Amino acid sequence: MAIVKDKVGVVSCSGEDLPEGTISRIATRIVLEKLRPNDTVTICLPLFLAGSEDERAFARVFPTIAIDGCDKRCAEVGTKKYSGKPVATIVVSEIMQKYPYLKAKSRGKLSAKEKELALKVAEEIAAKVDEVLERKKRGDSN
Ligand code: SF4
Repeated sequence: MAIVKDKVGVVSCSGEDLPEGTISRIATRIVLEKLRPNDTVTICLPLFLAGSEDERAFARVFPTIAIDGCDKRCAEVGTKKYSGKPVATIVVSEIMQKYPYLKAKSRGKLSAKEKELALKVAEEIAAKVDEVLERKKRGDSN
């Protein structure tokens, strides 16, 4: 557990029914694999909700950012209920309002525009990860 303290947990909703849920999962993967691989960790939200104590310890160990497809904020609500309050939440449908030319329509293979949207969301997540780590470095509380 000693090496985990400078990482941020990124918890994506598992929305299968809304295209925004697909964008939230893909954006989260982009952050974990490409943009901030050394600064982030994740959990499987369904396992977390199903009751694994290891997973539920997660948000007590890491500052977490919830990534939600829509304003129902399932990842934020689940993380808060079972583990600890996320330090921030990013909602895909809110980010989409900044980019009206980028629509989320698919629940499977993404179009070029949807990939662009996923990258925009991923960049917002990465910026928030940097902010959280910076605050930690300065010794600010969550
Ligand atoms: S936040 Fe919205 S998209 Fe994500 S799981 Fe909940 S209802 Fe589905």
